[in-house]
Amino acid sequence: MKKVFVLATLAAAVFGVQAQDFPGGKSISIVVPFAAGGPTDRVARDLAEALRKPLGGGTVVIDNVPGAGSSIGAAKVARAPKDGYVLLLNHIGMATIPTLVRNVPFNVEKDFEYLGMVNEVPMTLIAKPSLPANNYQELTSWIAANKGKINLGNAGVGSASHLCGLLYQTAMKTEMTPVPYKGTAPAITDLIGGQIDLLCDQTTNTTPQIEAKKVKAYAVTTNKRLTTPALKDLPTLDESGLKNFQVSIWHGLYAPAGTPAPVLKKLNDALKVALKDPDFIKKQEGLGAVVTTDSRVEPAEHKKFVASEIAKWSPIIKAAGVYAD
Ligand code: ASP
Repeated sequence: MKKVFVLATLAAAVFGVQAQDFPGGKSISIVVPFAAGGPTDRVARDLAEALRKPLGGGTVVIDNVPGAGSSIGAAKVARAPKDGYVLLLNHIGMATIPTLVRNVPFNVEKDFEYLGMVNEVPMTLIAKPSLPANNYQELTSWIAANKGKINLGNAGVGSASHLCGLLYQTAMKTEMTPVPYKGTAPAITDLIGGQIDLLCDQTTNTTPQIEAKKVKAYAVTTNKRLTTPALKDLPTLDESGLKNFQVSIWHGLYAPAGTPAPVLKKLNDALKVALKDPDFIKKQEGLGAVVTTDSRVEPAEHKKFVASEIAKWSPIIKAAGVYAD
């Protein structure tokens, strides 16, 4: 009993010192569970820059750990030391992975401390530049005429891009050949090169390609049209006939479960400052993203939100009969 008390006091003292000094000039690493150059990576790199100052000016580095629909990177953080120096930036995968990927080696609700939501990002349905269809109506005719021959890329098994493609095929009552990549960056490279026909992916990466006319764009997956100049003329899939089709991607920041509360508080405070950084907001808005300003930046609210997203997506994924493993 006495020994337990002494150990607990010692631990509190150690954590107390750590929390007080955190991050104490030590570098913080943000694990991105997708390939470098993709949407999650884009958001993480912009956020890392915005987090530096509120975290005392030290370095915030990005560690890309792609694979298995974000579950490999997330597992790395779930197993990381509980000291606040290794964080996870993940997207909607935190809510879809439990249903989409079976046998995940962690529990998204129990193995992480939720720091807060970062932003929301719409998706776009895009195609290789040589695809003959010039608008959404022409695309549907092209899909009907090319049944069984269409290659639909995705940013990895279990990714948001995969989910969007699966839901799109279900809504269109058609089947395409899935072509998985390690992330959006390599998928877009092959789309531009014409190795794949179609891709559904986040505006954070598709906007510059659409603007430069390197890909064709047909629709957005949100329930309202977007205001970003390069995207404002794209119809929603809902208005194009796929009623209630809506996929909106959000990103959140997480630490391993058991990270001391004072460290979590410092991280959440720094996140709140970063999300108000005008430079961060400008960069994100230019790519169609909306930076989170509401109560979902609070850890408890974000956790509640993710739980509601798990409840929302689980029946949709099950009804579509899709698994990503
Ligand atoms: N856009 C990817 C996805 O569909 C993730 C990424 O590469 O950031 O989940």
